[in-house]
Amino acid sequence: MKILVATTNPGKLKEISEMLDFDIEWQSLAEFPNIKEVEEDGKTFAENARKKALGYTKQTGLWTLADDSGLVVDAIGGQPGVKSARFSGEKEKDRKLLDHKNMAKLLDLLKNVPKEKRTARFVCCLCLASPEKVLIETEGKLEGIIADKEAGSNGFGYDPVFFVPALNKTVAQLGTEEKNGISHRGNAIRSFAPIFQTLIKNYKH
Ligand code: IMP
Repeated sequence: MKILVATTNPGKLKEISEMLDFDIEWQSLAEFPNIKEVEEDGKTFAENARKKALGYTKQTGLWTLADDSGLVVDAIGGQPGVKSARFSGEKEKDRKLLDHKNMAKLLDLLKNVPKEKRTARFVCCLCLASPEKVLIETEGKLEGIIADKEAGSNGFGYDPVFFVPALNKTVAQLGTEEKNGISHRGNAIRSFAPIFQTLIKNYKH
């Protein structure tokens, strides 16, 4: 059975295929160079994941798994939310610089906010769809607080400012496996796995 993962990011494909260790031939958007990009203009992570899964499954005929994720910070009304990737603007092309600018904007917005009010979470929504309908939707979270400066060099995005109190570290100070063990994406995939297993078992018979 072939399933399309709606990403061109080989890291994401690897993480998903390793955590969903079933008899599936996982494909990525890299194998469909002429596919029409589905716009991520939804108001929620769940809406974007559903839109991508349905948009790509209808174009390819393959069951499609899509995700959408980002950071939600309570003190600023849930921002950056679905705008996490481009919080500081659309122009910056350099990934590292973009991450840095996004974090700088966030830290600036929070500069007068005390530690106890800097609560935040990473959220990841997953959606699996067939051309006819949505098959599975799950959500995973990681709770933490926004630090007042960057620390650590692993990971990507907002990891250097996302502090996990239970570990006394930012996510950028964790190893890959340690991050996957607690992360929003890991948690969304762990909720997804047993439902998916039942679905494909019934599908085969
Ligand atoms: P996407 O869903 O992979 O497109 O992620 C959207 C944006 O949310 C990323 O560009 C990051 O800015 C942020 N984000 C999502 N997941 C993470 C994470 O695990 N660490 C840090 N930032 C993240």
